[in-house]
Amino acid sequence: MDTILKVKDLTKRYGTKTALDNVNFTIKRGKIYGFIGENGAGKTTTIRAITGLSEVEKGNIELFGSSTSEGIQMGRRKIGYLVESPILSMSDTAAENLRMQMLLYGHKDEAKIEKLLKRVGLGDVGKKKVKDFSLGMKQRLGIAIALINDPELLILDEPVNGLDPMGMIAVRELLKSLNEEDGITIVVSSHILAELYQLVTDYVIISHGKIIEEISKEDLDMKCSSYIIIEAEDSKKAMAVLDDNGLTDLEYDGSLIKVHDNVEQSKVARILFDARIFLTQITRYEKSLEDHYIELLGRN
Ligand code: ATP
Repeated sequence: MDTILKVKDLTKRYGTKTALDNVNFTIKRGKIYGFIGENGAGKTTTIRAITGLSEVEKGNIELFGSSTSEGIQMGRRKIGYLVESPILSMSDTAAENLRMQMLLYGHKDEAKIEKLLKRVGLGDVGKKKVKDFSLGMKQRLGIAIALINDPELLILDEPVNGLDPMGMIAVRELLKSLNEEDGITIVVSSHILAELYQLVTDYVIISHGKIIEEISKEDLDMKCSSYIIIEAEDSKKAMAVLDDNGLTDLEYDGSLIKVHDNVEQSKVARILFDARIFLTQITRYEKSLEDHYIELLGRN
């Protein structure tokens, strides 16, 4: 899978405040990334640096294999982005807004306006002015603007922030289809880990200007899956008995046993009871996405 963006050691200060502290991560083609961090973590600053909206003191990016300034400039033409709220003219229609934005790029293509509006689910808004749009509709119009240049990489800063559940679902489904049907790689920032769970394939987690984890959704699921914790008087013997009974995914730290196998707690208790092993504790531990996130922030 090819790498389309490499962020290398990005560092930015605002006065004495370090907004980005050696930020490194990689974006691979075809995936949907959740760029997660608390308010003020550095998401917007990173996105602004990638898209060329602001300068950094140190570090650089590699875009589509090039890190020369001409290469990055060319690469940026293949990025569509929506940073904070879309800049829209409220007293105009969606089509008029798109027409104006396209003119900025030197395009004049009525068929494309219609195609883009349909693509983002605004094909039937007709003469309705943007000021009468819901927040979700405005966001989708913002995404249509980001799609004007047929981007290979779409970067969206908090696109579902403030949307009601239906608005969120509409944006999520749109982004999924842009990724699956049009092959667009997507980076979406949010301050809530779980908010993007149904959308992303990978997470890049930032906190206080530092990347603290790059993890695939699959690996995150593994980390968050539930397991059974056992404390026994003779934990060594308990390990051997569990092993003899076909449990294969066991973790043992010399005192606690963690059973990651997909098995009922009562069955494990029965096995150990039958082997006359006295248990001081047996509990199922469920780790949620939030638990993982909070643990991660705590560690850092
Ligand atoms: P949010 O979710 O609140 O938008 P964020 O993760 O996008 O947060 P940034 O906007 O990148 O965070 O801000 C990172 C840090 O840099 C914050 O401490 C913020 O206060 C600071 N900062 C951002 N822009 C400026 C600026 N123009 N002047 C001074 N400080 C700034």
